[in-house]
Amino acid sequence: MPRLGHAVALIDPGPRAIRAVVVDFDGTICPHDVSEEILREFAPPEWWDIDLSFQRGEIGSRQCLIEQAALLTHGEDELLAFALTTYAIDPTFAPFARWTRGRDIELVVASDGLGFYIEPMLRRAGVEAVTVLTNDVALRLGDEPRFAFPNAHPACIGCGTCKMRIVLGCRERSGPVAFVGEGHTDRYGALYADLVFAKKHLVDICRADRVPFRPWETFDDVRSALESLEALPGPVAPDRCPGWFTPVGGAL
Ligand SMILES: [Mg+2]
Repeated sequence: MPRLGHAVALIDPGPRAIRAVVVDFDGTICPHDVSEEILREFAPPEWWDIDLSFQRGEIGSRQCLIEQAALLTHGEDELLAFALTTYAIDPTFAPFARWTRGRDIELVVASDGLGFYIEPMLRRAGVEAVTVLTNDVALRLGDEPRFAFPNAHPACIGCGTCKMRIVLGCRERSGPVAFVGEGHTDRYGALYADLVFAKKHLVDICRADRVPFRPWETFDDVRSALESLEALPGPVAPDRCPGWFTPVGGAL
């Protein structure tokens, strides 16, 4: 009899095959990149030059965030009010979060942006009890910004929030991981996930990295793909993350 149970699990993995979903926030849960929109509205135009340095690979996302946040002279309250009154999350995310909870699938929001607006925006949309892993950026009127990186890699200083580590942690705790994203920092999560949902920049990045991916537009697409899943591509998982950067020059 135990053999029968094993056989059923093999031929019918269904939505239970994925045990955790890691989701980017800016441009993914929220269709707009709220960090970029805050910079566009409140920072001088140099913020974009810094962003281009990051996109060209000259600086990591952590350095990019530190330099861009230093251009913001407004207090966090004003920036948060701007985010909450101007942008909303994708309406399909709240039902998706309930669906994952109903199936005991771990759901983690992983963001390498300014971060402070994520939980308030999720709360306002009725999304509760979702783990949010992001940078800790404190912006105070008339004061230097302060940073903490509680979700960084212990050795690498490339990213502020290490999406590779988040994906690997989810797999260790829960099992196979799906990653949902759209942008440059999502590359490092997508490379280590068992299944990738990509749109916008992440499509070209996955093609260049030979990461199999499924296109998506809304979280209804992600949900129906997970419900009809028959096989997992598995992670590409290079030995060294291409975003790897250490203060002594990059050796592991
Ligand atoms: Mg993004």
